[in-house]
Amino acid sequence: METKYIFVTGGVVSSLGKGIISSSLARLLLSRGYRVTIQKFDPYINIDPGTLNPYEHGECYVTEDGHEADLDLGHYERFTNIRTSRANNVTTGRIYQSVIDKERRGDFLGKTVQIIPHITDEIKRCVKKLGNTGKYDFVITEIGGTVGDIESTPFLEAVRQLRWELGKNALCIHLTYVPYLKAAKELKTKPTQHSVKMLQQAGIQPDILVLRTEKEIPASMCRKVAQFCNVSTEAVIQSLDAPTIYEVPLMMHAQGLDKTVLEKTGLPSEGEPDLRSWNHFLHKLENATEEIRIALVGKYVELQDAYKSISESLSHAAAYCDKKLRLVYIHSEKLSTEDVDEKLRDMDGVIIAPGFGQRGIEGKFIALKWCREHDIPTFGICLGMQCMVIEYARNVLGMKGANSTEMDHATPYNVIDLMEEQKSISDMGGTMRLGAYECELLPDSLAAKAYGTTKVKERHRHRFEFNGDFRDRFEKGGMRCVGTNPATGLVEVVEVPGKRWFLGTQYHPEYQSTVLEPNPLFVAFIKAAIAYEHERIEKQKD
Ligand code: GLN
Repeated sequence: METKYIFVTGGVVSSLGKGIISSSLARLLLSRGYRVTIQKFDPYINIDPGTLNPYEHGECYVTEDGHEADLDLGHYERFTNIRTSRANNVTTGRIYQSVIDKERRGDFLGKTVQIIPHITDEIKRCVKKLGNTGKYDFVITEIGGTVGDIESTPFLEAVRQLRWELGKNALCIHLTYVPYLKAAKELKTKPTQHSVKMLQQAGIQPDILVLRTEKEIPASMCRKVAQFCNVSTEAVIQSLDAPTIYEVPLMMHAQGLDKTVLEKTGLPSEGEPDLRSWNHFLHKLENATEEIRIALVGKYVELQDAYKSISESLSHAAAYCDKKLRLVYIHSEKLSTEDVDEKLRDMDGVIIAPGFGQRGIEGKFIALKWCREHDIPTFGICLGMQCMVIEYARNVLGMKGANSTEMDHATPYNVIDLMEEQKSISDMGGTMRLGAYECELLPDSLAAKAYGTTKVKERHRHRFEFNGDFRDRFEKGGMRCVGTNPATGLVEVVEVPGKRWFLGTQYHPEYQSTVLEPNPLFVAFIKAAIAYEHERIEKQKD
């Protein structure tokens, strides 16, 4: 079949959940047997979000092929179980860079280079790139930002042109907000009408409207919106706040979003999507009542989007273990030796978060010392793993002042050091060790047991590494390097045997945890936390 292109735009306000709606639609179409991919176009000028502070844009997600991407790609992968790549996330910066490179090469010799047609043509080329591989029946394209933003204009113009060129093979879903005014006790559709008008001014008539709302919108009001916005009644769908984002595909299906999309793109719409495994997960997620308490120690805790993939991975793992996740964020900058016991003693497991730079690092060491001494299941990820190594060096191996050269150039024990390949790099954008690398695990390690194999491939995002010169000293002193990259010998996983579960990974297992395939390390960590909780309950009984 010819590839169908679905564009998802947003209006009124940002953060309405375009990513979740796109992911939910993808899930439904996949469950009907179609081949689907989702891509995100971000109107900002950065080449990628890799250089953005998490406070600006939440977590930076990393694809298998080493692209630093918008966190929505994490939702796409978690919902669809399908890998994304560099091609799935394009920014204004990338578009301009490519056009300017072409101009310098002489591709447009003699011509004035303009937003229309040059920038819009490049956007259109990028939109169609995945479709042209012949691998997908549907390409869902989410346009970041809101209609009316200056930055979005060229993207909307490209969408307008594409809809014209693609005819029935293109469809536009517009997501808006219907606020509830408490004082008037009324839901208001005027912002939606304005937003649709703005889209129409850009030459785009939406085919489907998804109305985000905190209160159920009555059918009469949906009909009114349909009438005002030139949309058929069945194509006005509401997206009520859901107890979990994983319920959204079901909510969309109940209102016929998938059916309407199929009808409007000229495809057979009978039959039902096969959502058995999805429902199995959801059932577990929603029926788990017993809590498992996990602390996440990091410095970006004010903004929970900064640790999105970790919190989602924990929630998947807990659900499969029939536990309700209670994730407690602990600010590493505010953690001290005085209050660490109070903050961590009721926890069943502790995650030490990834990160960059000095701020909040001492709190991570304090937490790690407490975790190691109290033998609580502990999972260090990337910088968290590096901190595990440093804390062990300082407090167990007697290497006073041990550190990472990221934090202290002059440390007497550079147990974490800049990777050799990084030493000649000065540019900051896209230059870390990024993407999936192989790792070989020792057969008797906790990690190998968790994965059920000794060969894994996980994604990375770092410049510093465990310094191999100290490997013997650590191994003799009780910290084992159980995971190594077969090509370079880099240490990727450390463990302290004899502890309940004390493990650190240089890689980010959270990038590969999906609803249907939770990452085995998170599952093993949650199981260790559950076992630890049971032990403590038994002890209390004695
Ligand atoms: N700052 C550390 C490094 O660059 C860890 C990075 C991370 O946690 N993602 O190696």
